[in-house]
Order: sequence, then structure tokens, then C-alpha cells
Amino acid sequence: MSDQRSSVFQTTINNKISFSGVGIHNGKAVNMNLFPAAVDNGIIFKRIDLEKNNEIKVSFDNVIKSRFCSKIKNNSNVFISTLEHLMASLNGLSIDNLIVEIDSNELPAMDGSAYEYTSKILETGVKIQNKPKKFLKINKEVSVNLGERWIKILPSNELMINLEIDYPNTLIGNDTINYTYNKDSFVEDICYARTFTLLNNVEKLRASGFGIGGNLNNAIVVDKYHLVNNTGLRSKNEFIKHKVLDCLGDIYLSGFQILGKIHSFSPGHELNFHLLKEIFKSESNYEIITMTLLQDTCYYDDRNNLPNFNVA
Ligand SMILES: [Zn+2]
Repeated sequence: MSDQRSSVFQTTINNKISFSGVGIHNGKAVNMNLFPAAVDNGIIFKRIDLEKNNEIKVSFDNVIKSRFCSKIKNNSNVFISTLEHLMASLNGLSIDNLIVEIDSNELPAMDGSAYEYTSKILETGVKIQNKPKKFLKINKEVSVNLGERWIKILPSNELMINLEIDYPNTLIGNDTINYTYNKDSFVEDICYARTFTLLNNVEKLRASGFGIGGNLNNAIVVDKYHLVNNTGLRSKNEFIKHKVLDCLGDIYLSGFQILGKIHSFSPGHELNFHLLKEIFKSESNYEIITMTLLQDTCYYDDRNNLPNFNVA
């Protein structure tokens, strides 16, 4: 079935979807339900472990800086963290409107990727709504440097993500990717890429209160030139594909699907946050647009495109 209209009109999901798991950083058990929502609702998280002031809308105004994951908060300082993989799936599948009820302050890690989110959303189906979707279109170059790491975004009619990572003397090594977003490429190539870490960073991460819920079922662990997981990689460039996935998730915290060409060396959540901050600093950097079907080149087949992985 052609699903071209879902790239131009707002969308939600057909039915409620449930997830359970543990937070990769806080290690706590968490239950999460996704519900369909009306047009112009956006993505709203509702912390049902709290009784009041518990709604947090995905919007750039609510994004806060965080080093190892993404984080948003509301005016009452109620926050929700590690939402990047769900947000990547929502950006990848072009979902605009949802209510997400969750009984913890961190999303479930699932298998460390956006695979299960993507799989369940495709299973229940995407509902096309009767109002045009809004896009954030970049008007001029915006860039950020953090030491040797940098990110920039240039005007483009589609979303392109060109990344370089460099992990010397490890299996990850140096790698580059030139990714052009569309729903097919997200489902086929990106959604399954898992989060990764170096073994010698695990203890440091845990000492600073992160990665408590991390294990070999929700992260790839690399020890120099060896993979600690005995299941192998899902693709030879799974590491950099996960950086694309994180980027898709982080930039969707803006509340918009972005049209622009991203280049980054040594990308991460912090750089992605600073890029959004820089974009929203001046209204001359962007415009909010809607698209017509003629301009749109996204063509989406069905969930048969999703590769098969056994998830724990
Ligand atoms: Zn990630």
C-alpha cells in the first residue's frame, strides 16, 4: 500500500501499544503505553507515577542538556529521559501525534535500538490524519564546535545525515555514513542499530550513575578489537548507524521533522542538543512549512521491509 500521504499529512497510530522493560541508566522496571492522539496534539509524555503536573510535551523549549541520553522537562521540573530511541522511531516513521503514558522517569531500553518500537508501530499501523504536517526547514548554515567535535546543518529539501566517528584502536575504528532519510531506509537500515559502549567506559559510566540497567541484551559492548556480546553485529556498520538513529531521535525533540543536511564529526546527544539550541536562537535560521504531495518523494511500502532479529 502506498503511504505517501503519511509524509505530508499528520499521523498517529491506529491503536494503543504497550512496552515493558528497564531503564538503561536507572535500571528501574518501567511500563509504557502509546495512545493515538488528535491532530496538533504533538507528542506528549504523561508520567503516571506522579499525580499532578505530570505532562511533558516534546518541544525544543522543554529540552535540557544531558550527556549520555536525551532529556525533556516541564515547567514543574518533572522530567523524562532516554527518549531518543522512541523519538527516532517516531521521526523515522513520521508520527506526529501521540500520548505516551509511562510509570517512571526513563524509557525502557528494549534491545538498545528502535527496532521493537518500530516493529510494534508498524504492526498496529499508522493512521493518516486530515491536517498537513509542519516541517522545520533550515534556511542557512548553523554550526557548533565542542573541542574537536563538531556539527553543522545546511539548507536542503530533504533530511540528510552525514556522520564520521573515530574510535582509534578499537573494533569500531573510523567510519563514515551518508544517509538520506526516508521511511523505507529507516525501517530497512537504521531502526535495528543498537547502542554501544567501550568496556573500559562501563565502570566509569556506572560510577557516575549511568548505565545501571545496561547489559548485553540492550547494548553492544566492545573490548578493544573484540565484541563482548556473543551474538555478533546486526550489520558491519551498526555503530555509525546507531549514531544516525540517535541523531534522528535527538533532532525530533525540536517537535518538528527537520529538512536540512547535517554533517557531524564525533556526534552525540550533547552536540545534537547544542545544534537545536543554535537553530532556535534566531528565527532567520529556519521556517516552518507544510508540503504538498507533488514535492514529496517518500514512498512507503509495508512492514515486510523490516529485517528479522530475535529480540530477548
Ligand atoms: Zn542511542
